[in-house]
Amino acid sequence: MSNATPPLHELSCADDYDPNSIPVPKAREVIARFLSPINTIERVSVRAALGRVLAEDVISPVDVPSHDNSAMDGYALRIADLKADAKVTLKVTGSSFAGVPFKGKVGAGETVRIMTGGVVPEGADTIVMQEHTEARDGAVTIGGGHKKGQNLRKAGEDLQQGQPALRRGQPVRPAEIGLIASLGIAEVSVYRKLRVAFFSTGDELVSIGSPLGEGQIYDSNRYTIYGMLTRLGCEVIDMGVVRDDPKLLEAAFKEAASIADVVITSGGVSVGEADFVKELLNKLGEVVFWKIAMKPGRPLAYGKIGNAHFFGLPGNPVSVMVTFYQFVRDALLKLSGRDPIEALPTFKVPCTSTLKKAPGRTEFQRGILSRDGSGNLSVRVTGEQGSGILRSMSEANCFIILAIEQGNVTSGTMVDVQVMDGII
Ligand code: AMP
Ligand code: MG
Repeated sequence: MSNATPPLHELSCADDYDPNSIPVPKAREVIARFLSPINTIERVSVRAALGRVLAEDVISPVDVPSHDNSAMDGYALRIADLKADAKVTLKVTGSSFAGVPFKGKVGAGETVRIMTGGVVPEGADTIVMQEHTEARDGAVTIGGGHKKGQNLRKAGEDLQQGQPALRRGQPVRPAEIGLIASLGIAEVSVYRKLRVAFFSTGDELVSIGSPLGEGQIYDSNRYTIYGMLTRLGCEVIDMGVVRDDPKLLEAAFKEAASIADVVITSGGVSVGEADFVKELLNKLGEVVFWKIAMKPGRPLAYGKIGNAHFFGLPGNPVSVMVTFYQFVRDALLKLSGRDPIEALPTFKVPCTSTLKKAPGRTEFQRGILSRDGSGNLSVRVTGEQGSGILRSMSEANCFIILAIEQGNVTSGTMVDVQVMDGII
């Protein structure tokens, strides 16, 4: 069976492929066909694994729990000693505390005081919680209504020795490092971090620290891109600003592709600028330029330069963030070995703003999700939605996603939102 990916230029043969208006899902699907995870593995200590992706299953070397133990504070006993509809009194012969087990056996007519996590003593098959007992003078009285095996956690109930506790492709979060530690495992195999090189293009860009000349602006995209990549756990390689000069760009693309798994640029993909970048990239690799049916973030380039994946993001600061979150994020997760990639969740809430929206493109407006006094969620728009207004991203806590066919939105309409917080 062959799963070879067709070259990018062959996509133009597909019936529904129009590079001048490619729908968001189609662009995602095409990019996904070209991605396979990096295959270099590292061994790291449990704490160092936080934020990384497991490269191998973690197999449990032990049964979890390792012994039958109590889920409650109470008494360990034999169910056969209890009566369904009458009280019985049992002799307390000892205690089993977490970490300090009872050494003997529970015989007929006997019980052992047991605490949560305490090892269930030999002979006992049931735990009666303390609240259902009356203790007096070394004995305990218990009524009916108990079931065999209640409040007793069996050895291996959570996980049996030899079973996978975690799967390859799993991101390691606080729960996972705790779980790995609970198995007594000190080191795990993770994929190496993805190396991502990025630079900004544009003659108008100035780096912070230098004064602005006429018509110049500070380069902000390198900072947002740095932030988004760092939160995704990538190794970032900041290559600075590159002028709109074919020679300098060629050198920058070549260097980036030789040192990184992924190259990201901003600017230079819009009409007017794209032509010479296109020519250059077609010389160095295989890259397609798309006008995505979306707002903001219409122009996007994707392809390969040598072995490196290339994402050419638009120049406008909001477009950079939207295209990163909607296309690059998933791709980087997949390349990092994450499996499966969960799409960012969306849910519907009423929109309290009136929104202008033209059918024919997907829009990602910036929204503020909030709760009213009765606890009901609603969303409003941040205000001006220009793709150069980075403040709209900073004020927002969610995207309002308006589907391709959607027209204007009147106040009170239910809209899809995607929470930004924690989406890294
Ligand atoms: P371009 O796609 O290169 O035509 O850029 C579109 C718009 O985004 C222009 O107004 C640029 O000045 C602006 N822009 C491009 N790159 C950056 C950057 N790195 N930081 C801030 N704004 C930028
Ligand atoms: Mg430019």
